[in-house]
Amino acid sequence: METTLILLKPDTVERGLIGEVISRLEQKGLKINGLKMMQLDDAIVTEHYDFLADKPFFPSIKEYMMRTPVVALAVSGQNAIATVRMLTGATNPQEALPGSIRWDFGLTIDGNIIHASDSAETAQTELKRFFKGENIFDYSRGFDGIL
Ligand code: GDP
Repeated sequence: METTLILLKPDTVERGLIGEVISRLEQKGLKINGLKMMQLDDAIVTEHYDFLADKPFFPSIKEYMMRTPVVALAVSGQNAIATVRMLTGATNPQEALPGSIRWDFGLTIDGNIIHASDSAETAQTELKRFFKGENIFDYSRGFDGIL
């Protein structure tokens, strides 16, 4: 069973889409193990998007990610990392497949709704970054993976 880190970005919060996006994850059969709203600061956004630091759009990403609080989720399930990336869709909503979260709710790359860890290694780092080992709960639903 894998666990992945998801952030519902400020456009999702502003547009009242938190529940819609979380529903997609739950409907797929993924389990929510952690859920919290948090205001990101410059340090955590810079660390999270460090690999984009030399891109011209880096300042605008930082501004975007701090515009409102975000919702962080720890989500688990069989093959959860790749599954959530499939549900999420391509980085640019214009290129995401219909039915994916970014296609269905996003219009431009400036507001692409959701962040999801892209590998097991990244997930481990990102879960620690946003949950710091606290407030991640394990529980049985009695039907895990078999909806
Ligand atoms: P992801 O894993 O699909 O989120 O994509 P990346 O890791 O490549 O990029 C991280 C985030 O940076 C994306 O989700 C976007 O919010 C932002 N981003 C990436 N490329 C661009 C771009 O060309 N323009 C703008 N404005 N933002 C971008």
